[in-house]
Amino acid sequence: FHQLTGGFSSLELLRRQILNRTMGTFSFSLDATHQNRVSAITFCLASEWLISTGHDKCISWMCTRSGSMLGRHYFTSWASCLQYDHETQHAFVGDYSGQITLLKLEQNTCSVITTLKGHEGSITSLWWDPVQRLLFSGASDHSIIMWDIGGRKGRTLLLQGHHDKVQAICYIQLTRQLVSCSADGGIAVWNMDISREEAPQWLESDSCQKCEQPFFWNIKQMWDTKTIGLRQHHCRKCGQAVCGKCSTKRSSYPIMGFEFQVRVCDSCFESIKDEDRTSLATFHEGKHNISHMSMDISRGLMVTCGSDRIVKIWDMTPVVGCSLATGFSSR
Ligand SMILES: [Zn+2]
Ligand SMILES: [Zn+2]
Repeated sequence: FHQLTGGFSSLELLRRQILNRTMGTFSFSLDATHQNRVSAITFCLASEWLISTGHDKCISWMCTRSGSMLGRHYFTSWASCLQYDHETQHAFVGDYSGQITLLKLEQNTCSVITTLKGHEGSITSLWWDPVQRLLFSGASDHSIIMWDIGGRKGRTLLLQGHHDKVQAICYIQLTRQLVSCSADGGIAVWNMDISREEAPQWLESDSCQKCEQPFFWNIKQMWDTKTIGLRQHHCRKCGQAVCGKCSTKRSSYPIMGFEFQVRVCDSCFESIKDEDRTSLATFHEGKHNISHMSMDISRGLMVTCGSDRIVKIWDMTPVVGCSLATGFSSR
């Protein structure tokens, strides 16, 4: 096997797989690896490293050849998901605080390279594409972020199309499509083969950046102008801090990842043309509460597991593009 992920409460199952498939009769104990639930695990065949993380707020990596623990690193939150790039020995760990930590794992030590902060809820899924050097993260805040790691400019794209926790993501490098599933059964296929725009940073202001009325915490200006403070909102397209009156309209804006209607200021609303509202993703109904998903990309098959204890196998070839057929054996 190449990679395993899942919610093992014990590593016994994996230990048996290692014994059966690759280790012959060689045995070692993994019982002491984690002190709590293991949330993600990955095996790197090239280095023969077994990397795991879990609710003991710890990532550990061990050598399956010697059976010895190589290193451990502790986080401040429960770790929820893990991706590993064996070529550069970088691990990405998502956690319940909504942060992703990028670590470089060495033989007996590790160093924290950076932390990626952008989600407002726990990270539920990660996907690393080593070819384009893109990291995708799904979170309980219903959103997906694409982190352009290889671009080295801190470019991020926000994808908002789900109405519940994003539970699983899978990037199909060949067709440049991202498949995502959410807890409410939503399945989205995102077109990542177009140049998308970054969502703006939200600007801070003490008064509306359109009509200049003060926001409610701006006591001084309220006193001076004898006006009552307004609630602050943000236009999703330009990022300006605006009052409700100056942002009455809603629009989708798929090029920035907003597949459903979001608040925009009145001038941005005017600037959005009808063709700008054309969806850049397709949405499908899974009809069960998806908790896990995995794809067999070569055959265009997807399997979803639900909290209803039902496993569904999907033929995704009608939506993941005909280019899948090229270079792969037919089904
Ligand atoms: Zn205003
Ligand atoms: Zn605007």
